[in-house]
Amino acid sequence: MHDSIISSAMFRNDPVIDLLRDLVAIDSVNPTLVPGARGEADVARRVADELRASGLAVEITDVAPGRPNIVGVLDGRASGRSLMLCGHTDTVGVSGMREPFGADVRDGKLFGRGSQDMKGGIAAMVNAARQIAEGGGLDRGRLVVAAVVDEEHSSLGADALVATWRADGAVVTEPTGLDVAVAHKGFQWIAVETRGRAAHGSRPKDGRDAIMRMGRVLSRLERLGHTLQHGRSHDLLGAASLHASIIEGGEELSSYPARASLQFERRTLPGEPSDVALQETLAIIEELRAEDPEFEGEARMMFGREPYEIDPANGLPAALMASATRSRCTPQRVGMTFWTDAAILGGAGIPTVLFGPGGAGLHSIEEYVLVDDVCRCRDAVVDLARSFT
Ligand SMILES: [Zn+2]
Repeated sequence: MHDSIISSAMFRNDPVIDLLRDLVAIDSVNPTLVPGARGEADVARRVADELRASGLAVEITDVAPGRPNIVGVLDGRASGRSLMLCGHTDTVGVSGMREPFGADVRDGKLFGRGSQDMKGGIAAMVNAARQIAEGGGLDRGRLVVAAVVDEEHSSLGADALVATWRADGAVVTEPTGLDVAVAHKGFQWIAVETRGRAAHGSRPKDGRDAIMRMGRVLSRLERLGHTLQHGRSHDLLGAASLHASIIEGGEELSSYPARASLQFERRTLPGEPSDVALQETLAIIEELRAEDPEFEGEARMMFGREPYEIDPANGLPAALMASATRSRCTPQRVGMTFWTDAAILGGAGIPTVLFGPGGAGLHSIEEYVLVDDVCRCRDAVVDLARSFT
């Protein structure tokens, strides 16, 4: 108990925690996820002010009305490699949370919406830039600090960032528990519709039941999901998977349903085609049609994001492991299950890793980040910026 009081007081004196408390106290709920929410503008302004005060050249670009990306640049005294630090400024909603913007520190944890996902990472990278600038700057190369909007919905910010910015390497400071993540899964969303024929419930000869037909699709999808789970396994990500997400159909109890619709999600592994889920679903529909010529169904892809894996020959993960080890961390090389903006940066040709503080409660009603992890993340990023560029 005594230890935690001492360490909490210690962390409070670290400027990265002051900055983090400011960031968590500012509402930046994604307005596409939660209609009417404030969006990223206020927190982006705080980040921009901090970067400017640190001496970085700051560019503010509205990606959508009132939703700015912030990019700060610190050039070294000689040419060299460029390192990008990237994080998202939006958060998911706050419903059910007692004090989403409280930013209280208790027992070495800082609580609030976005504390771990990912204002802890934002604070670490922004304060890293400040430490580097105030410590005399970079001998060579360039540091690019990017705070982007809308990762929690459709990554408008990261898409806009890579339209104009490049770097020789990037660290996305999403929460990894201070491990170095080099890969994550992708996802694909598929819509399936089955058709039947509406008829009075007493007339089985006239009616064709679209929901029962969807049942056949579901049982095939369940089998496919089982096959995926026992199929190819990525050494860091495990197996691909799928699950049914939303199902609808039917109008009233006394009628045969004319249509049913299903939306499902398939999580993908590096190397799988970007339309694999649609191809699998079309194959299922073909099989069902071959078994029963009356079967009517179709599928389309709604949205998808690519999985990500850094080129195994790239030296960035090893460089970051070394920097983290020099900064009181004991990093493992890992994969993350969830999708991130790293796939967008990687897809644009920027070798990218994920490295951010630990904590708990992402997207749930009690979220916190470990304050010492935020300090160690900042220290590792400072070390990397000096050694990589
Ligand atoms: Zn995140």
